[in-house]
Amino acid sequence: MVARGLRLPRRWLAAPFFLWILVAAAFVGAGCASRPGLTWQRYEFERPQMGLPFRIVLYATDGHAATNAAEAAWKRIAELNSILSDYEEQSELSRLSRTAGSGRAIPIGPDLWRVLVRSQEMSRASGGAFDVTVGPLVQLWRRARRQRALPEPDRITAARAAVGWRWVELRYPTRSVRLVAPGMRLDLGAIAKGYALDEALAVLRHQGISRALVSGGGDMVVGEAPPGEPGWKVVVAPLDSPGAPPARTVWLRWASLCTSGDVFQHVEIGGVRYSHIVDPRTGIGLTDHSLVTVIARRGIAADALSTAVSVLGPVAGIRLVERTPSADGLVVRSVVSAGKLQFQTAETGGFRRWERRR
Ligand code: ADP
Ligand code: MG
Repeated sequence: MVARGLRLPRRWLAAPFFLWILVAAAFVGAGCASRPGLTWQRYEFERPQMGLPFRIVLYATDGHAATNAAEAAWKRIAELNSILSDYEEQSELSRLSRTAGSGRAIPIGPDLWRVLVRSQEMSRASGGAFDVTVGPLVQLWRRARRQRALPEPDRITAARAAVGWRWVELRYPTRSVRLVAPGMRLDLGAIAKGYALDEALAVLRHQGISRALVSGGGDMVVGEAPPGEPGWKVVVAPLDSPGAPPARTVWLRWASLCTSGDVFQHVEIGGVRYSHIVDPRTGIGLTDHSLVTVIARRGIAADALSTAVSVLGPVAGIRLVERTPSADGLVVRSVVSAGKLQFQTAETGGFRRWERRR
């Protein structure tokens, strides 16, 4: 079993694709600040957040400004974790989940509201492939990973009875939420990190720093390019099998890149590899091996889309990304056909555009 993520007790987001993605932020350009006499310096900060290694890379002309801005961004991420985590018993999300089936609608704060609105949009757009009510199923599969045994079918049936995105009732005028079915449990593991990255970048901008990158696991959000560069150079490493299609290099500016797949977080039972991503329509962890990369304007969209595409598979998944304004995607999937390992690649028409050094 490979489930590095679960070693950390409070982690609520799955394991890192960060090993695959190298951010090659160029040092060139240091020394060409916009105002005469000022020199850009590159600053890098790292900290565990949300149970994952997070990183901030930014360019500033003054070390104090850089440190203060990074500190404010860390604070914002920690705050969002305390609101959106399903691991924290006292998070706003956990408190909301505990009201499931009570008939009550609970007023919620702006962050949770924004994430739930976006989640519901993604559920609708993906025909339910993306579904933050998968909590009860995710719990079952987390246990399966620990015990290395498949969940019993009747438990899956029972969990599925409490899974359904249409049972999240958003009441716009009062910004309150009613969870209709008893036993519902929300899990924002596929969207909250993207939102936290967006918000961290927003904090940096607020502090006057726009040439910045914030990453958590392998997901990232970037602002203005490093000085003198057309963008942030990001290498999306290949699927971890011999003969897989080669790495792709993209240049990002004011964009987010998020990945999703089964490689680091899965359990192998009876020769079958089950991912930490669950198909809400069947209750089963995904069994195909794929790496999905999505680029979008915002992290919240790229994060959610990458998970939706994992569930939908390359054809329907890429169709969904094509339908999403200013988003692009790449899916590399390995399949065994006639006893031979083969690779399928699917991508949006615009993906190659990101590979050009503009
Ligand atoms: P990573 O955690 O590697 O960034 P994802 O962004 O794809 O990967 O998020 C996976 C997490 O999302 C799971 O650990 C679980 O918490 C949650 N999840 C699993 N299946 C779904 C689904 N179908 N829809 C929404 N969230 C899901
Ligand atoms: Mg995701």
